[in-house]
Amino acid sequence: MPIAFDNSYARELKGAYVPVAPQGWAAPDLVLLNTAWAAHLGLDTAYLQSPEGVATLSGHAAPEGAQPLAQAYAGHQFGSFNPQLGDGRAYLMGEVVAPDGTRHDIHLKGAGRTPFARGGDGRAVLGPVLREYLVSEAMAALGIPTTRALAACTTGDRVLRQHGLEPGAVLARTATSHLRVGTLQFFAARGQTDMVARVADYAIGRHDPDLAGTDGRYLAFLSRVGTRQARLVAQWMGVGFVHGVMNTDNCTLSGETIDYGPCAFMDSYDPATVFSSIDHGGRYAYGNQPGILLWNMSRLAEALLPLIDPDQDRAIALATETVERVQDDYRAAWLAVFARKLGFDGPCPEGLVDDLHRLLDGQDVDFTSFFRLLPEAITGTAAPLKALFKTGEGLEDWLAELTRALDKPDLAPDRMRAVNPVYIPRNHLVEHALEAASEYGDLNPFLSLLEHVQQPFTKREGSEAYAAPAPKDAGPVVTFCGT
Ligand code: AMP
Ligand code: MG
Repeated sequence: MPIAFDNSYARELKGAYVPVAPQGWAAPDLVLLNTAWAAHLGLDTAYLQSPEGVATLSGHAAPEGAQPLAQAYAGHQFGSFNPQLGDGRAYLMGEVVAPDGTRHDIHLKGAGRTPFARGGDGRAVLGPVLREYLVSEAMAALGIPTTRALAACTTGDRVLRQHGLEPGAVLARTATSHLRVGTLQFFAARGQTDMVARVADYAIGRHDPDLAGTDGRYLAFLSRVGTRQARLVAQWMGVGFVHGVMNTDNCTLSGETIDYGPCAFMDSYDPATVFSSIDHGGRYAYGNQPGILLWNMSRLAEALLPLIDPDQDRAIALATETVERVQDDYRAAWLAVFARKLGFDGPCPEGLVDDLHRLLDGQDVDFTSFFRLLPEAITGTAAPLKALFKTGEGLEDWLAELTRALDKPDLAPDRMRAVNPVYIPRNHLVEHALEAASEYGDLNPFLSLLEHVQQPFTKREGSEAYAAPAPKDAGPVVTFCGT
């Protein structure tokens, strides 16, 4: 059965996109189909594997009902405003409504140049496409809001990148929308307040329908996005995820993680952790993410300002108050994330979480392993946990503090194991899997890693290598943007 598209963005937001036409590939081929996710969306997996389905997923041709379009957006990139970014190498093929009633964009990344391509080639290559597939699947399995990978295809040609020619590829991803802070900024920067209102109303319709048509909805919407983003970043912090490019064009209004370019999971706990080759100042380091969240929400507030109140001073006061509350939302969400990681069913003493971060600082402790060894440390021996630390000074006291604070210490280990992953996409494993796939055409290491991160909390026999930190001599990991 072909895909039943229902294209609300094309219908309702004329002026916020440019229609595009698929360029056609030499030999489009399906590499991976996320059959579970396709089924969730109500898509026919047999159809998606047919030549017509592959043509759709790879952006080779547009099927009936699709309205391919490149979305306009602006954005602050590393703090500097660029009034025109937009989908330069991706487009929205169309939207589908899943059996559960939720609406999803089917978006193709690497599908060719669009009018927003500027100097870029409009392309993507297999390594980064698989990387986004893997990391977004891991995030979903960790319970973190994210865009989803629907399929990865190759195009049959080769694309020039830093290290030579690589297989051209397209990622079909879905999102509850691709609306970004930058989508509103695009129109705000042009003084087109009517378009800011149309985009905001459309976003409200998709993400906060209970606010639709209400007085004060734009301020309420700012608050909703702030809360979603605060919870999202708190969840990132809980698993050691470093997004790497928290530009406002990569900050969704839905609160989903988007754009897995230079992202990576930190091994050893260090707030200064940065992976991106272009993030020289560490603007998007692990420990800076909460501050950037607030910065991005301030940019969203600015874009919405004329809609919040006709009196600018009043609008500023209201928006400021709302953004300040995002800081409280973040602190509450962050404490809740770490309370769960420490085995609490509800809130835990704030000091315990703050002390934990002080304890981990400068100790070169593998962040993921720490939480998996915690159950044993409170029920049996703390020796394996202590062995993760350089000195482990203060650890015993902190463990005693934790045990005292837990009202039911015997229930804590299972709670901890249910939320603290064994398997995350560790950089050295990801790099190995991507190299095997894109250089040698061997997908097996990738598939095996994918299987592990898709069930991150279930420890498997014989899978120690998937849980272990990178060998100490592996050297620093550097990730590349726009790849
Ligand atoms: P990103 O860093 O992927 O979030 O992209 C930032 C901006 O650069 C967006 O407007 C992209 O569409 C654009 N872009 C990134 N890579 C390419 C490319 N290879 N060709 C055209 N545009 C690109
Ligand atoms: Mg982007």
